[in-house]
Amino acid sequence: APIVAIVGRPNVGKSTIFNRMAGERIAIVEDMPGVTRDRLYAPAEWLNYEFRMIDTGGIEIGDAPFLAEIRGQVELAINEADVIVMVVSGREGLTEADEVVARMLYKSDKPVVLAVNKVDNPEMRHDIYDFYALGLGDPFPVSGSHGLGLGDLLDEIVKHFPDEAAEQEDEAIRFSIIGRPNVGKSSIVNAMLGEKRVIVSDIEGTTRDAIDTRFVTEEGDEFVMVDTAGMRKRGKIYENTEKYSVMRAMKAIDDSNVILMVIDAEAGIREQDKHVAGFAHEAGRAMIIVVNKWDAIEKNDRTMSDFENLIREEFKFLDYAPIVFVSAKTGQRLDRLPQMVKDVDDNHRKRITSSTLNDVIMDAIAINPTPSDNGRRLRVYYATQVATQPPTFVIFVNDVELMHFSYERFLENKIRESFDFTGTPIKLIVRARK
Ligand code: GDP
Repeated sequence: APIVAIVGRPNVGKSTIFNRMAGERIAIVEDMPGVTRDRLYAPAEWLNYEFRMIDTGGIEIGDAPFLAEIRGQVELAINEADVIVMVVSGREGLTEADEVVARMLYKSDKPVVLAVNKVDNPEMRHDIYDFYALGLGDPFPVSGSHGLGLGDLLDEIVKHFPDEAAEQEDEAIRFSIIGRPNVGKSSIVNAMLGEKRVIVSDIEGTTRDAIDTRFVTEEGDEFVMVDTAGMRKRGKIYENTEKYSVMRAMKAIDDSNVILMVIDAEAGIREQDKHVAGFAHEAGRAMIIVVNKWDAIEKNDRTMSDFENLIREEFKFLDYAPIVFVSAKTGQRLDRLPQMVKDVDDNHRKRITSSTLNDVIMDAIAINPTPSDNGRRLRVYYATQVATQPPTFVIFVNDVELMHFSYERFLENKIRESFDFTGTPIKLIVRARK
């Protein structure tokens, strides 16, 4: 999906506009467990377009001086976005900081849409003409806090989206390697691509600065490693911030089917790891947990199972994800990764016939009778798979209220025991049959 970045000096109302445009989508996501409340990055839609938004104001670059901070944010927008929305304030008028931002945007070839915020009433509309001086075209008056003018602004934004036709069908398995800074992502990428049995067939530059790497294994399996660019070239001031790495991870998750989440064996599990893993889980992506730097820790015969238990404890919702212990330094077990990615991708796309599925469900009910409440018993009529990636099943019952969480969990476990869904979340949807 196209990326829209919001930039502008502090206090012009970037976050207010961001939240308005993301609107209900954020609210829906927040209802689900384990999900990030980070508003730095959010899905949004307008007309027939789905897109992602980045609020660059959320990237705090530590104690960088004011201008350096703005520069970092604008640079980020220029690198990541398909369309940039520059926000200024109609109440405060044109400032020098606005001009600094505009000059930077000028030099990029990304389309820029100029939003004049805080135009809360029609009388203020004639104040927007000053902003033509920025040389960014027509200013669009909006009021983030009142929700005014956003439709016109969005119409203008979507006009600049790249042609969807450019994205053609592709057999390759798309995966990405995510994790906190310094866990060894780049080292793993380089080691994987450097293996003899892997042929890097081409490197695609896309319209954005993001670069995906395509490779083929000896077995002839094709892969696209998403967003490897961020790992190859480094050194921008925002790249070492935690928030940036979270944002980068969310974007990679959006663009891939399989996620390799890298954990540093030495540094252990951090809050941010859970945050990002929760996002991948909610997005329904297949997942492999990769514990890196396995060479660097002292081990006895229990070290691996202890670490595994710790991961299972910390990431309860990822009980389906296989864990692999590797070393990018020595190359230990890295050769297994492509096959693991392929296996979990197969499971993620798996389709079960209705007759087999219903045999499993009916057998499960025979072992463990359905719950009842006030003398009414849950009746399960029929189940069918309605989607893949992730596998999604609808179960038709007499009364949705009678399906307890624990029974749903039991059915899910039975499905998992009967079919190999290693590495993929599965979804059960319970519906009342009319
Ligand atoms: P990234 O920020 O996640 O891409 O991490 P890098 O790949 O840049 O690695 C961060 C640091 O960890 C570097 O100093 C690497 O040399 C080191 N490193 C990466 N993988 C391993 C590993 O398997 N073992 C050891 N001992 N060090 C590693």
